[in-house]
Amino acid sequence: MNVSVVLFTADLRLHDHPPLRAACEGPGLVVPLFVRDRAVDASGFAVPNRLTFLADCLRDLDAGLRDRGGSLVVRSGGVVEQVCRVVEETDADEVHMASDVSAYAQAREQRLRRALEAFGRRLHVHDTVTTVVPPGAVTPAGSDHFAVFTPYFRQWSPHPSRDVLAAPRAVRLPDGVGSEPLPSRADASDVSPGLAPGGEAEGRARMTAWLREGVGGYEDQHDDLAGDGTSRLSPHLHFGTLSPVELVHRARKAGGPGAEAFVRQLAWRDFHRQVLAARPQASAADYRTRGDQWRSGPDAHRDTEAWKAGRTGFPLVDAAMRQLRHEGWMHNRGRLLAASFLAKTLYVDWRVGARHYLDLLVDGDVANNQLNWQWAAGTGTDTRPQRVLNPLAQARRYDPDGAYVRRWVPELAAVRGHAVHEPWRLSGPERAALDYPEPIVDLAESLARFRRARGLE
Ligand SMILES: Cc1cc2nc3c(=O)[nH]c(=O)nc-3n(C[C@H](O)[C@H](O)[C@H](O)COP(=O)(O)OP(=O)(O)OC[C@H]3O[C@@H](n4cnc5c(N)ncnc54)[C@H](O)[C@@H]3O)c2cc1C
Repeated sequence: MNVSVVLFTADLRLHDHPPLRAACEGPGLVVPLFVRDRAVDASGFAVPNRLTFLADCLRDLDAGLRDRGGSLVVRSGGVVEQVCRVVEETDADEVHMASDVSAYAQAREQRLRRALEAFGRRLHVHDTVTTVVPPGAVTPAGSDHFAVFTPYFRQWSPHPSRDVLAAPRAVRLPDGVGSEPLPSRADASDVSPGLAPGGEAEGRARMTAWLREGVGGYEDQHDDLAGDGTSRLSPHLHFGTLSPVELVHRARKAGGPGAEAFVRQLAWRDFHRQVLAARPQASAADYRTRGDQWRSGPDAHRDTEAWKAGRTGFPLVDAAMRQLRHEGWMHNRGRLLAASFLAKTLYVDWRVGARHYLDLLVDGDVANNQLNWQWAAGTGTDTRPQRVLNPLAQARRYDPDGAYVRRWVPELAAVRGHAVHEPWRLSGPERAALDYPEPIVDLAESLARFRRARGLE
């Protein structure tokens, strides 16, 4: 009987899963496989918040497979070696997996293809599992990818999309395939206390609630920091417990300006993926270098540590950094402001900040994180690379009465109204009573430093 292996990577779901669907189509047997990849562990990418979320996802995937007569096979080690071992043990004919964009994922696919072909087995790689439009499917004249979002979006929107696939009814596993125990939530320590739970069931419930109750207000509320009016679906998209194709289908069906604005954000996700697929080195090197000589040495180190700790003395930046530590997630406005603050106001290398985000973000994602950091640092695809976000102006617009700051910076919880954004203006005794630092930089001086460094004055 025909045996197919389905290698799950960043697509930990049963619904709308083209590799699983293809493997389950015939009468054959299916081995759903997840490899706890030694190389990912060694890279430092497997951090507590994401390992914990991953444990939830694997448990839920296994439960869903068991409901259908199968189960998840978990192995650890080198991914190519482990897949080949399972193929040999089960005498499988073929392996199905999703395409992915990072340098590592692209190399993994090639290594796996070569190894399988060496003993006459086929690797089927499926597009539109982790993106809506596959990288390279829409391109501008004369280039292999879009470097600017708006023209990309113009072509992305009308691009035909495949149908959404149902979850398979039955998954029949060959007898006697051994599995390691599923990883457990308890395996990781130093997990953010407010970390969201993972898993496909959780993701689908969140998607349904969001499309019913949240998305309508998205256009107006997505930038309101205290209102928390975004979907919080990013970890589910990162781990693939939700399908971006299904999400776009359902959002378009819901319709209205909120849904349209939401779909546009999902296009940003595809946009960064098509940039990284074409320029995998952009995960670590400037996409468009500005010749930066970033600050280093003890002063830069001290400033960076204050930034990480949420003790810069700029309440909105500090609130965002504390949300990151507490939840392993941060509002997009906070991510942008805190990134601009590190890379431009403090003029510290964007890679230092990107690493810190990746250490904590539950949705920490090479394409979205590194390329958004480059956008914020002005080394990426921003068409206004030299703009510097001013924390006070951002506070006026996105946290006008200070509710977000009071939520995340308890030292300032008693300061009323907008004054919470400028504690240095409080009267002497009021200021003295706060255990909160003075600003670590002068905004005008730091702006001048950045402009000099970029050769703008
Ligand atoms: C410096 C910086 C670092 C970031 N790092 C990451 C990261 O590691 N992982 C990650 O998923 N997102 C990252 N983002 C993008 C964005 O902030 C998050 O996707 C978003 O805040 C997640 O919240 P949400 O699901 O509620 O978003 P919603 O506003 O509900 O948006 C829906 C989805 O659209 C996608 N999306 C939204 N904004 C962006 C964007 N600017 N770029 C790409 N995709 C977007 C996400 O998949 C998101 O889940 C980063 C942004 C910045 C500025």
